[in-house]
Amino acid sequence: MTFLITAGPTREPLDPVRYISNRSSGRMGYALAAAALEAGHEVALISGPVCIAAPEGAQLERVTTADEMGDAVQARMDRGCDVFIMCAAVADFKPREARPHKIKKGEGLDRIDLVPTRDILATVALPRDRRVIVAGFAAESEDLARNAQKKLREKRCDFICANDITRMDTGFDAHENELTLFFRDGSQRHFERALKIELARAIIKICITLAENR
Ligand code: C5P
Repeated sequence: MTFLITAGPTREPLDPVRYISNRSSGRMGYALAAAALEAGHEVALISGPVCIAAPEGAQLERVTTADEMGDAVQARMDRGCDVFIMCAAVADFKPREARPHKIKKGEGLDRIDLVPTRDILATVALPRDRRVIVAGFAAESEDLARNAQKKLREKRCDFICANDITRMDTGFDAHENELTLFFRDGSQRHFERALKIELARAIIKICITLAENR
């Protein structure tokens, strides 16, 4: 099977040196890529800027902004894939304009106008037969189940992997994570704290089972 996986943050420039971004090390997405490769599948990994090495064998495409990530995802989706996992921490907002020159400290900057970025997961054009399995991630600080289920429907996912970001020992930049998966049929599956690679292996297995039974 072919997996299309996104990972890491996006950066939205304010000027040539400054940007707004999200906290994300890329570890969960890279672990998913590693687990899919380990299971013998083809992996296209579209990654925002991270400081970790891509798993050997992945077809890595580096991007910076949400717009670039959206275009790269659409182009790869158009060439066909069996499973699409949107694990990237895409910035929800970008500066209305990126200044061509570095803003001088003396000039001051008392406000930044932001506009929403494109929601890649919600808007990527899927193949008409919709055979691709789609999975998203959700980092929640409250009402985990309700918010995850809302995203599951709005973003057309087969399942959402949700983590509670108030638990700062897991999640961001950590090697471990704790996740609850919410499925379209209303069922859910909780994974206790474990190494990201172990969680990734479980998620990849679930994707394969869903793809085989579609
Ligand atoms: O709405 P929220 O950002 O919490 O949703 C998270 C999910 O949506 C993740 O799978 C993330 O990769 C995806 N997303 C996206 N494009 C955005 C924002 C989030 O694809 N602009």
